[in-house]
Amino acid sequence: MNGNCYKHTNEEAVSECEDCGKSLCGNCSRKYGDICICDECNLNRNTKSQVKIISFLIPSILLFIGGALLNIFVLKINMQGDILSKIIGALLMGYVFAGFPWGWRFLSKFWSTPKFPRYYGDGYRLVTGIDYLFWWIGIVLKFFAAVFVGLIALPLVLIEPIFKLIKAKKLEKAIKNSE
Ligand SMILES: [Zn+2]
Ligand SMILES: [Zn+2]
Repeated sequence: MNGNCYKHTNEEAVSECEDCGKSLCGNCSRKYGDICICDECNLNRNTKSQVKIISFLIPSILLFIGGALLNIFVLKINMQGDILSKIIGALLMGYVFAGFPWGWRFLSKFWSTPKFPRYYGDGYRLVTGIDYLFWWIGIVLKFFAAVFVGLIALPLVLIEPIFKLIKAKKLEKAIKNSE
């Protein structure tokens, strides 16, 4: 290494930042554990990982808000009750909406969505009303199964990214305070 630490100009550099190559002293090299990285670059990485986590969470958050608003303004389920039961109703609806895609996704691993019956021409029999009926039953069954599976899948899918986000926020604060 040549020269001194970019931050502690009296300290001799012993390594350099993995990302930008700035010289780091012993303390700065060990500051973030196994990775030799300067504050600015670590802050950059932190921002990137936060953006990644938040973009993963956004569809579920939007569905949650959408479900809650739909319950309040369109479906008006539970609207006769007091304000608390209205809020609970809206939250539950949001929860069901946010969980649904995850439930559907999980089920699709072993339960393929029934294909809409079509007449494929020579060699295939004609599509009958029964085919449409079975298709419809298949869709409805999977739909309701996805709603229920989604109730369990949602917290399982979101808990890890939420904890990661909290951790990233803490690290961000720590980096900024150390500057
Ligand atoms: Zn750097
Ligand atoms: Zn230093």
